[in-house]
Amino acid sequence: MIIVLEKNISEEKKNYILKRIYDCGLTPHISVGIEKTIIGVVGDERILQGKPIDGIPGIEKIISILKPYKLVSRDFKKENTIINVKGNKIGDGNFAFIAGPCSVESREQIDSTAEFLFKQGLFFLRGGAFKPRTSPYSFQGLGKQGLDYLKEVSIKYNIGIVSEVMDTRDIEISYNSIDIFQVGARNMQNYSLLTELGKQDKPVLLKRGMSSTIKEWLMAAEYIMLKGNSNIILCERGIRTFEDYTRNTLDLSSVIAIKKMSHLPVLVDPSHGTGRKDMVLPMSLAAKVIGADGVIIEIHPEPEKALSDSQQSLNFEEFEKLIKKVSSLKCPD
Ligand code: PEP
Ligand code: MN
Repeated sequence: MIIVLEKNISEEKKNYILKRIYDCGLTPHISVGIEKTIIGVVGDERILQGKPIDGIPGIEKIISILKPYKLVSRDFKKENTIINVKGNKIGDGNFAFIAGPCSVESREQIDSTAEFLFKQGLFFLRGGAFKPRTSPYSFQGLGKQGLDYLKEVSIKYNIGIVSEVMDTRDIEISYNSIDIFQVGARNMQNYSLLTELGKQDKPVLLKRGMSSTIKEWLMAAEYIMLKGNSNIILCERGIRTFEDYTRNTLDLSSVIAIKKMSHLPVLVDPSHGTGRKDMVLPMSLAAKVIGADGVIIEIHPEPEKALSDSQQSLNFEEFEKLIKKVSSLKCPD
């Protein structure tokens, strides 16, 4: 249920409404917008039967949200959410290019990638220190050592770090090295991880699970937002279908659906979405045209030597071309 408060409501009236909600055993979430202040009420609304709150002074209207996802829905918040990391915005017309290697492999690899991004005027560097690999025999990432390399370059080049946490224990280890926590496709429904990230004061990039519906994806975001962290970026990274020419089937239609259903920004990952470097540029262009809020792309100084996802990684020259082409493309209204 969404309670829309009257404009210029007094603090006293607002506090009274909040108290009534708490007294009923429900949890209110306040969102102060430019136009309106609204309270999202989470919990079993049937509790309110027989204890009507709509007559309380200061309430303009009450909207019942029947959808299973509430706080992340457009009904809860009409305006697009903007993520801001040190003045670098994602969402509501701010198109982001996040790039970097699949895995952090060495100090030199991360430094040269960060330097390249810095020279391109880009802010966000991606790179996994904890890697969710299909095979336990594959390279599992450098762990803490990788985080230290990321930290070094974030200071040296003043760039923002996006890196994956696979487990609640990784959050504390990574906290000082990371600006945006990435939740990978394999962990989209790791509810204890989502709940813990909901308590953090840094944004979360939530990838779509490879077999998850759009609704399940939004419900995963709801777990994070329910704990108080509304800085969530969704990321379409392809889903598993019967098609095997591509690594996954990049479901661009989900971006259009999300834009209608939610106020959260949504990125496209054409690297994992296709698994093929020849498709990364055309899919990035398509992402821009359909209104995605950015792309996250795997790049490597020497893609053929990459320890993971070599076939889908672009070299710096290819990525520079992509930035130019995508930047020059306008998203039609
Ligand atoms: C990654 O970003 O390197 C990754 C493992 O992605 P996904 O979780 O989408 O497979
Ligand atoms: Mn990868």
